[in-house]
Amino acid sequence: MYIDRIICPVKTLGPGNRLTVWTIGCPHHCKNCSNPELWAKDTQKDIPVSDVAKIIKKQKGIDGITITGGDPFYQSAELLELVKEIRLAGIDDILIYTGYIYEQLAKDKIAKEIIGNIAALVDGPYISELNDNIGLRGSSNQRLFIFNKNYEKKYKYFENAKRQRQNFNYNGHVISVGIPNKVD
Ligand code: SF4
Repeated sequence: MYIDRIICPVKTLGPGNRLTVWTIGCPHHCKNCSNPELWAKDTQKDIPVSDVAKIIKKQKGIDGITITGGDPFYQSAELLELVKEIRLAGIDDILIYTGYIYEQLAKDKIAKEIIGNIAALVDGPYISELNDNIGLRGSSNQRLFIFNKNYEKKYKYFENAKRQRQNFNYNGHVISVGIPNKVD
């Protein structure tokens, strides 16, 4: 699976302390995307899903997993494998950000199975004109779906949350993590 980075604990992309995975590859090419470096697949960063699962299983005390990108559904077969591994590790709070809209995904067999195994999804392309600087989605067209009803309370703050940034030193580079405001 093409993966750029895995960082933990991320507090700015979902509720609580989250292990966050950034996948590589995205067909949407949204204007003013904050991660254009993740559009093209990087064959140097092809990692077996089992290795990613090992990293996730080693983490202690996390509240959930966020998978973003890139577009995680661009590698849907690998994403399904990863989601199943995470569930096997006993973690069911899985949040995925995608540029596809839910209705498109719901027509696809693999995507449907992924959706059946995650707690929440943020869908739709980023539209910079609709970035209202509110909530943990990039623009107001993007919708939060909560599939696991046990998490409705936990995610309630999500759409009106104050955005924050977290800086990490990752492989010698400073990486700023969080939903960017329009002015950023
Ligand atoms: S879907 Fe996300 S990663 Fe892909 S172009 Fe749009 S904003 Fe960027």
